[in-house]
Parts: sequence; structure tokens; C-alpha cells
Amino acid sequence: MGLIEDEVNEVSRLCCNVIPNSKLITCMTSLIRVDINQTNSRQLTVCLRFPDEYPKNKLLTEFKSRSMSITFLERFTKVCDDKAVEFVGKPQVMGLLKFVDTYLRENPLCIVTEEIFNVKKLLSVTSGDLKLRQKSSSILLTAKGGPFYISAKFHVPEQYPVERIQWDDCDCNLPQALVRFVNGQAKEIARQCVEAPLKKLKTNPEFQPKPSLERTFRFIIAAMKGFPEELCPSCEKLALPSTSQAVVETDADDNFLIRMFCGHIYHQGCLKKFMSEPPFPPGGKICPAKRKHPRSDRNHCGARKQSVSDKSELCQQRVTHDKWGLNDVKSAEAKWAHQQARVRELEEVIDFLQ
Ligand SMILES: [Zn+2]
Ligand SMILES: [Zn+2]
Repeated sequence: MGLIEDEVNEVSRLCCNVIPNSKLITCMTSLIRVDINQTNSRQLTVCLRFPDEYPKNKLLTEFKSRSMSITFLERFTKVCDDKAVEFVGKPQVMGLLKFVDTYLRENPLCIVTEEIFNVKKLLSVTSGDLKLRQKSSSILLTAKGGPFYISAKFHVPEQYPVERIQWDDCDCNLPQALVRFVNGQAKEIARQCVEAPLKKLKTNPEFQPKPSLERTFRFIIAAMKGFPEELCPSCEKLALPSTSQAVVETDADDNFLIRMFCGHIYHQGCLKKFMSEPPFPPGGKICPAKRKHPRSDRNHCGARKQSVSDKSELCQQRVTHDKWGLNDVKSAEAKWAHQQARVRELEEVIDFLQ
């Protein structure tokens, strides 16, 4: 008899041939249920019901997915609802299924909808910009802090989140030392999302890869926001200059910046002075910064969580850097003693001459 029965028969005949990687789970006049499996992360179950007075009215559509976010499913339901208007008055099921399949294929970033949504929310209170490139499955992030910016194109691979987001170069007007830090640390964060730590692998073999996009972007955005406000712990003036043109890239300059293991950024001249003058504590020089750095290397190495007694505001980490090892402190101490001896000698000479 009915138009609906004819359509159900046609769907059961055509569905799997017309829509690649689809599986017809239920095909009845009360419900049509189709699984679409494009990739591990682009998996969707489409549930369709025929409304009263079909096909004058739109099909009732519902989506379920284990891999895709609620945010995406809610938005996508609206998109499909709008699209369904075009099919009113004729058989709708195959048209709608084809639309769903094509949409997922042409919008590969749909698997990061929720993360993009959260990053956009964050960018609305800091400064920066996101541009989506669905065709190449990539996202252009620009994060800003004062006169400084970083901008890079991040690719979301088909096997995301099992594989991490990827990027090559970034465009950035910070001093090179800071560009290297942001880029390197961001890569490390993304890597840790998908690779189990070697130690943990033995005790906990059930490592689950985590989505890397939002975590990585949050780090970059926070770092960029923080840089222009950071003080050199030694002179307590802003570490970065007030314009990007004034950035110093020659490491002979006193205003050349050095980022220490504790996360704080020193002017090279201030650091040299600080390292070469007393006191010389036995364990090495301690960073005098008034607060702990939120992006210290220690935090990111996961070396140890801060204990309750460790919550003091001061940095108090040993000042270490490839350029300024413990030996430098010892030789600085010796140099200082030598200089002081010279000063005393000179004073004696002056005394003698008077
Ligand atoms: Zn300084
Ligand atoms: Zn410090």
C-alpha cells in the first residue's frame, strides 16, 4: 500500500551501496537506523522516524555517536533539520543519508567541534583568532599578548585523537628563545596526550590517548598572554620591551633574554650580574622571583606535584640553565673573591700613596 513501505524497501536495497562504510541496522516503517563509519573518529548512528502526514512533513532525525561530541551532534541535528526542508513532498530518507555522509566527509574538523568551541570561548576573553580550513582539515591559530603574536597552522589528522595535532613552523615576533620554548613545549604537551609515559606503561598498560588540540592551544594562549607582563626577577622590570621592534636577538646584548628552568625570564645583563655577585649559597643561586612561574619546566616534566608545604609564593628554584651551570656559580664565586682581593690591593696601594 503505502509510500512509506515502498521507501523502506528502497532504502534496504540501496543504502549500503550508495553510502560507503554504512551499515543498515534497522529498516522498518517505524524506524530506520543506519551506522556510518567513515573513520575511527567519524562514526555516527542515524535514527530516522516517519512523521504523521509524511512526506508533507520532515523526517524526525536523531544522532548518536561514541566518538563525536554532544556539541557537534546538537548542531548537526539543526543543520540536517534545515536541509530536510528541501526534501519535503518526496521520499526523504536516501537524500538525507547522502547529505549526512557528504557533510561528515567535507567537514573533517567536525571531530574537534567541542574543543574549537572551548578555545573560541577562551579567545573571546584573551586576544587572538581561529580560522578553520575544512578542506585541509587544519586550523589557523593566532594568539596575542600585547604587541606580540604567534600564528601557526595546525593539522588535525584523520586518526585524531589517537594521533596528535601536527604543525611545522610558526610565525612569531617574540625573541627566538621564547619562540623555541612555546613551540617546543606545545609539541611536548601534544605528544604527551598520545604517547604513554615510559614509566607508566609498565604499571598501567591501559593508557588512553587524549585529545591534544584544546590542551595545546590553551598552553599557547596562556603563554602569549603572560609574556608581556613577565618581570625579570633580578631588576623587577618588564622582561620584554614594549614594542616588538625593540626585541633584541644578539646574544651579546644585555637585554637579550634568557629563560631559566624555573620558567622566569631574565635580561642577560641582569642574570650575569646576579650570578657574579654574592651571596653564593652552597647549593647554588636561588631565583629571587616573587612568585612561582605557572609554566615552569618542572611542572611540565611532571617531576613532582607541589606539596602543601611547597605552596609558598616565592619561586626559590635553583637558577639553572645550559649557559649557567653550577660550575659557573663556583667560578663566579672564585672570580668575585679574586676581584675583591684586587679591590683590596688597589685600596692598599692608594692608601700607601696617600
Ligand atoms: Zn632585568
Ligand atoms: Zn624563577
